[in-house]
Amino acid sequence: MIRWTGFLFWFSSLALAAQTTPPYPEIRALTLAKDGLFRQQQELVELAGQAIARGDPLHELTLFCYRITSGDDLFSLASRFNIPYETLATLNGYNTAEAVQTGAYLLVPSQPGIFLNLDSPGELDRLMAGWRDPTKASQNIRLQRNGKPVSLSFFSGERFHPLERAFFLGILFRFPLPSGKLTSSFGMRLSPFTGHSQFHNGIDLAAPTGTDVYAARDGNVVEVKKGDPLLGNFVRLDHGDGYQTVYGHLSRIDSSLNSHVLSGTIIGKVGSTGMSTGPHLHFEIRRKGHPEDPVSFLPTKQ
Ligand SMILES: [Zn+2]
Repeated sequence: MIRWTGFLFWFSSLALAAQTTPPYPEIRALTLAKDGLFRQQQELVELAGQAIARGDPLHELTLFCYRITSGDDLFSLASRFNIPYETLATLNGYNTAEAVQTGAYLLVPSQPGIFLNLDSPGELDRLMAGWRDPTKASQNIRLQRNGKPVSLSFFSGERFHPLERAFFLGILFRFPLPSGKLTSSFGMRLSPFTGHSQFHNGIDLAAPTGTDVYAARDGNVVEVKKGDPLLGNFVRLDHGDGYQTVYGHLSRIDSSLNSHVLSGTIIGKVGSTGMSTGPHLHFEIRRKGHPEDPVSFLPTKQ
């Protein structure tokens, strides 16, 4: 009997080690009548919403946790907790909606807003940090996430900017140049060389020779080629999820094969190598090997 209890204890500690319960009150049922903590969370969210609408100071941020069950997704959870999905995503360190996992714990706050991790920023944090001043955060909080302490700056009541939303939903690449003029679109066009109609796999962005070319998203350098008859010096990056980008006609390549680059890393300089009529960047986005129109993935304002 004692041995059996010991075995059970050993077994349950293993389960706990695999899935650390966060040190926050656990909401177990998402029904007001059954769970007092859920009721409390809903009341606090409502009070926060009223305070934000009136411009009143907000109550202290309270955290709860909830174990994700099968059938939950980020958007259904956001709707049940009456909290924007970006609040849940940034609090929990999700870079995509697919990060929600059945059986994992979700941290649930008592107020809407954006959480920014500057300690160990991910790609989304770096994007968000571009227009959020950490000194203007409503609160700096330290919390336990996945069993580890993390410090976050909390911007109460804020939502994703359109760019962050697009990035989070997986439709965004950053603009590959500091600035550039679109001189040739994606799709069928007349070749400037042959005068015949041909398919253009990417877009052409005119910019002076030597202009920095940025990685459009975090990724790995999977091809570096010099002197290609068509694309001249070019670099191809793999971003995961089936996405790749190509940067052609470079005057100089500043990245090496198999290296990891971050979104915004300079990978080369604009040039006019290969089949080109003047300095420009030929930029392609491929999904599962097929070229896509980069314009639909890029921010509308550079
Ligand atoms: Zn081109």
